[in-house]
Amino acid sequence: MRPTRSDFRRAAFSAALTCGALFATTSAQALNVFTCEPEWAALVKQLAPAADVRSATHARQDPHHIEARPSLIAQLRQADLAVCTGADLEAGWLPTLQQRSGNPRVQKGAPGMLFAADHLTLIDPRPNASASDGDVHAAGNPHAHLDPRRVLEIAEVLARRLEAVDPPGASGYRSRLAAFRTDWQARIAQWERRAAPLRGMRVAAQHSTFAYVWRWLGIEQVADLEPKPGVPPTPGHLQKILDAAKGAPPRAIVVSAHQDPRAGQWLAQQLGAGATLLQLPSTVTDEPPANTLAALFDHLIERLLAAQR
Ligand SMILES: [Zn+2]
Repeated sequence: MRPTRSDFRRAAFSAALTCGALFATTSAQALNVFTCEPEWAALVKQLAPAADVRSATHARQDPHHIEARPSLIAQLRQADLAVCTGADLEAGWLPTLQQRSGNPRVQKGAPGMLFAADHLTLIDPRPNASASDGDVHAAGNPHAHLDPRRVLEIAEVLARRLEAVDPPGASGYRSRLAAFRTDWQARIAQWERRAAPLRGMRVAAQHSTFAYVWRWLGIEQVADLEPKPGVPPTPGHLQKILDAAKGAPPRAIVVSAHQDPRAGQWLAQQLGAGATLLQLPSTVTDEPPANTLAALFDHLIERLLAAQR
């Protein structure tokens, strides 16, 4: 018997139903993760490759200051898990997003809201800082993702959180964490060997963004281009740095990819051939050469070594 038109229609209809059911299952199962910064999105992708992960900021944005846009509120509303830095880094925008999202899964204290800084020892706590000290991070320097050893500590916490919000995925999160741990520990050892010549290098930098890198690799930050934390460089402050640095100029002037490089450029020019301006990504970028967590550390070390030579 030849199939009739209505047979075709029925077949098409049932195919559509099957497809619809498949899509529904996939979207119901894909874990939705919101991160405040790209480094946490990169880490989530390592442990939960099937998750739908979005970062609120990208490498060319300053995570201290972004706008609580409606699109971000909508993203947070959908999230099963949110991963942010904490230690007040996002104090200017995340609370607004949390409140407007109306999503109970990502409110402070819920298992779906992970602040990395709550699980780390931060450097440079400033508990007695006042408003006149600038935009000080009282709990300590929040830019802790730039220490790969602390990244591993957060990977351990993140894997447990992923399990908590997605129990059926538990064994996958555990095995991917184990693989990440082995790989990452080997990389840390390699980075430390490769970066050995950087020990004792002197740098000037704008803000405390890279302080964890300096601490980890034995680099000394001799000046901050910001007169106070979070306050942009002023001509008077730059002149003071220049006067102090003339005898023994820092080897590199470091600014972040999201900062205006002009103050650093001026200082590097005044200091002459002894000092190189380095504009470095402070997080994972969309494009190479720093588009994964490992590539970010590779890139930072290579750029610093090139400036050191
Ligand atoms: Zn900061």
